[in-house]
Amino acid sequence: MIDLQKIRRAAGNIEGMIHRTPVMTSGRLDKLAGNEVFLKSEHLQKTGSFKIRGAANKVGLAAKEGVTHVVTASSGNHGQAVACVAGMLSIRATIVVPEDVSPAKASAIRAYGGQIVKCGLTSAERIPEAVRIAGDDGGVFIPPYDDPEIMAGQGTAGLEILEQVPGCGAIFVPVGGGGLIAGILSAVKQTRPDVRVIGVEPDTANDTQLSLEAGRRIAIGATGTIADGLRTAIPGELTFPIVREALDDLITVTDMEIRKAMTILFEGAKQVVEPSGATALAGLLSGKTGIRGMRVSVVLSGGNVTPADYGRLLL
Ligand SMILES: *Cc1c(COP(=O)(O)O)cnc(C)c1O
Repeated sequence: MIDLQKIRRAAGNIEGMIHRTPVMTSGRLDKLAGNEVFLKSEHLQKTGSFKIRGAANKVGLAAKEGVTHVVTASSGNHGQAVACVAGMLSIRATIVVPEDVSPAKASAIRAYGGQIVKCGLTSAERIPEAVRIAGDDGGVFIPPYDDPEIMAGQGTAGLEILEQVPGCGAIFVPVGGGGLIAGILSAVKQTRPDVRVIGVEPDTANDTQLSLEAGRRIAIGATGTIADGLRTAIPGELTFPIVREALDDLITVTDMEIRKAMTILFEGAKQVVEPSGATALAGLLSGKTGIRGMRVSVVLSGGNVTPADYGRLLL
């Protein structure tokens, strides 16, 4: 696990760079879920996702040590978060993106002041390129999840949930590479071990489920799930041992269940959430954990979705 002190330090490091996001409730949602639901609203976070927590911690610490250039390889929420934090700290950010990056994602990164380098179509091509660019001029590569300072930053969301939701019995968290859930597990299990932490994955991106069953990290093939933030092929080397040690349960949901959750959030709570961001709620609503009549928190991890995609996905 990530040391609790490290997560508390991260909370101090990133204060002022991030929002303390609200928890929201909806009577309609409580009825549907059969639980008292508190939505931890990271879709309202700066840059539209929780990723800025880890990025602010890691990039902030690097900047303190005199680093003036950070590099990463994500066109999605992590890339935007790194570009935004670098802008706040007045250092350079280079974001390596796939050749077929969507114009919306590229312009979001540029708007935060990030410089875009296009390379290949897969992360297997992009990551070495990003590491090379960083190495070439004394820059630092900022990984999306497999890093203790990134996990510590993401874990600050767990500390906030424990403060904002007294009596919380369970927390539902989406799982991609595992940085968010490893951070939240570390924060929660070292302070309130009785609080259950449930991971939720798309059924076609169930690398963590298969890895937990096998007891070791298992890679899966490419998946086209609509939850693009959760498409990682294999759990992180550093995140997986924490997940294996501390996770209470892991469930999977279909893309249709994710679309239903997005629609319920729109209609019942008036919240715009991207597919990855609605996945944890889909997990709760699936009823697969058997959790009922409890006070629970659900992490809405992001809200970055284009109007065209949003319209297509709502039911
Ligand atoms: C990155 C991301 C996730 C998954 O986080 P991991 O740390 O990779 O597990 C979930 N939701 C959103 C919106 C994301 O951007």
